[in-house]
Amino acid sequence: MGEFELIARYFKRAVRPGARGVALGVGDDCALVVPAEGMQLAVTTDMLVEGRHFLSTVAPARLGHKALAVNLSDLAACGAEPIAFTLALALPRADEAFLAPFAEGLFALAEAHGVELVGGDTTAGPLNICITAFGQVPRGQALLRSGARAGDDLWVSGRLGDARMALEVFRGAVALGATEFETVREAMERPQPRVALGRALRGLATSAIDLSDGLVGDLGHLLASSNVGAVIDADALPRSTVLAAQSMALQRLCVLAGGDDYELLFTAPASSRSAVEAAARLVGVPVTRFGAINAAAGLRVVDAAGRAVESGWRGFDHFAA
Ligand code: ADP
Ligand code: MG
Repeated sequence: MGEFELIARYFKRAVRPGARGVALGVGDDCALVVPAEGMQLAVTTDMLVEGRHFLSTVAPARLGHKALAVNLSDLAACGAEPIAFTLALALPRADEAFLAPFAEGLFALAEAHGVELVGGDTTAGPLNICITAFGQVPRGQALLRSGARAGDDLWVSGRLGDARMALEVFRGAVALGATEFETVREAMERPQPRVALGRALRGLATSAIDLSDGLVGDLGHLLASSNVGAVIDADALPRSTVLAAQSMALQRLCVLAGGDDYELLFTAPASSRSAVEAAARLVGVPVTRFGAINAAAGLRVVDAAGRAVESGWRGFDHFAA
């Protein structure tokens, strides 16, 4: 199977009739993307490298899912509606047993979000998957990291830490029963991007970021962008029953510095509490309030009793020494 046959077989699909925002899909030198009147184009890229972002043991269908999910999560954090994406793929070989399920997992998530694959590039090389996603958001309404204000509540969607727990099991640092392991493994390999929640938070949240590198690190980015500080309750951070059954040290590591959560962290004025809860209920995603924004810089982590929690956790950094 050659390069062009591979593209035609696995990645060239007719643009769905009625697809929003796509005038021309795969097959020409460029795709044509048309945001609706009054909308801004939201653009994001995320690359997945074998051994770095995923283990060679991951099922190809889940890899296809995750490669797109992490990009849709960035659009969600901005409150954007996904339109289209491109796929740049380096593959060791044109392997049917990999490509068929990979494409299946990728397109299943794409269809679930009504987003079209409009182009890409395919080359031989070490397995590497780079997706660029395009979304649209009403002019001036994108959720940004820079909008948090003193007095705002801090919120997070879903549950934190399961993906990190799965990683610790793969590393041999933690042992779990088969069912528990499957639960946390699914969190790591099949994250659900919070696209509907992100859109529902437009006009409600003052700032937002998606959690990819661990809560403390990602919250740090939001605080720095907004020029504010925060106090957070480590015990209030939502976690699964599987994680809640582990030692407190492991729980804290996983919820505070876990990584790969792909939940939304956002701020909203205290006067908007019931509106935030109503918006979350409407889209069927649980949200939890776990802290507050301060005018003074710095992040203070406390437990339920208000005692300081060791807060040396850092966000993931590929080039950290
Ligand atoms: P060019 O050489 O002009 O960049 P290519 O020969 O690389 O074009 O690709 C041919 C067409 O197939 C283009 O429309 C490109 O966007 C698309 N394409 C290539 N690889 C992929 C892929 N992995 N997924 C989707 N579309 C792809
Ligand atoms: Mg090309």
